[in-house]
Amino acid sequence: MYKAFLIKYAEIGVKGKNRHIFEEALRRQVEKALKETEGEFNVTREQGRIYAEATKDYNYEDALEALSRVFGVVGICPVVIYDDIEWESVQKNVCDFVGNVYKDKNFTFKVKAKRGNKNYPVTSPEICAKIGEKLLEAYPEMKVDVKNPDVFITVEVRNRLYVYSETIEGPGGMPTGTAGKAMLLLSGGIDSPVAGYMVAKRGVTLEATYFHAPPYTSDRAKQKVIDLAKQVAKYAGPIKLNIVNFTDIQLYIYEQCPEDELTIIMRRYMMMIAQKLAEESGCLGLITGESIGQVASQTMQSLLTTNEVCTLPVYRPLIALDKQEIVAIAEKIDTYETSILPYEDCCTIFVAKHPVTKPNLKAIKRSEEKLSEKIEEMLQKAVETMEVITVGE
Ligand code: ATP
Ligand code: MG
Repeated sequence: MYKAFLIKYAEIGVKGKNRHIFEEALRRQVEKALKETEGEFNVTREQGRIYAEATKDYNYEDALEALSRVFGVVGICPVVIYDDIEWESVQKNVCDFVGNVYKDKNFTFKVKAKRGNKNYPVTSPEICAKIGEKLLEAYPEMKVDVKNPDVFITVEVRNRLYVYSETIEGPGGMPTGTAGKAMLLLSGGIDSPVAGYMVAKRGVTLEATYFHAPPYTSDRAKQKVIDLAKQVAKYAGPIKLNIVNFTDIQLYIYEQCPEDELTIIMRRYMMMIAQKLAEESGCLGLITGESIGQVASQTMQSLLTTNEVCTLPVYRPLIALDKQEIVAIAEKIDTYETSILPYEDCCTIFVAKHPVTKPNLKAIKRSEEKLSEKIEEMLQKAVETMEVITVGE
């Protein structure tokens, strides 16, 4: 019965002079999300609100699902719009609305009214009172509860009449494309897809880099990362994914450097390459899924050592989250099931039994000197031979 949605947003409504830029970005993202469903919608911006009205038959569930992935959306209200705002018709239409939406009328309610047009002859309190009365007359099972009702019935009289009573939660955040671009270091684990999602939620466009080590890592492991990128792209929009062959570099580090420093040195080279790619494509920062103390390479000393090669800011949205909290987000955004598939990761293959947990930067740099002969050439080659695909287009 719903042919339209009222889209509610919060934070972008307080952006002062730039408000319309954010609202227009959100309108476009809503339009884009709905285009990916079968339906056709007219998405408009009016008086600080966004409406999506179906212009032909559509699938309600699909539309809701698409809308619930649009960053910036706080609430989605399926709404019925009536052209007639004549007071008698308003009363009748609201009663019909409730009659149609609620088969079982055994609930408590409160009417909320808004008048967009201040010349409307009936005031908001009068609208509430009169419609409440009409509803009780029409459906005696219903009861008023002004403090804690089961259902708020919202009646907005603007140039048309809007009636709605349900709000489905949106993801919040800022519309995609309203911040800059950042480079996500995306592995096949649980953390990095969540980290990408969280930063993208603030309006940041994502690019991603994955390091693999064929033949030590398989095509299935690579496909898993592509699938994770696709899932994140459902929220964040298209993601350009750089797939970098890290095998030679890893073997070289393995040959030349102390075993307990392998992981940390490898992490430094990953950051270096990702940063180079980031700068080349105009990214304003890097994103990782690191969290303090999660593994040896994520102690504060290790983070300091890894971070030392970076001149771009490194965004680590999971830094203070516990694993359980990260898993909860992974489940919510539907990356968890893919992340736990048991394929090998390049970090897990060349890993030491007892990695340093408190690396010393000077010692690490001394070890890296042993790579001086060939590393530049190898870094160059890794970038030149990388595979680039775009997901989520
Ligand atoms: P994740 O669950 O994200 O794989 P993790 O717990 O396995 O994280 P690490 O292996 O220490 O942690 O990696 C820390 C971060 O470094 C990851 O969150 C990711 O951002 C990046 N990273 C690790 N391995 C790779 C890789 N093969 N390709 C790209 N980035 C990687
Ligand atoms: Mg990992």
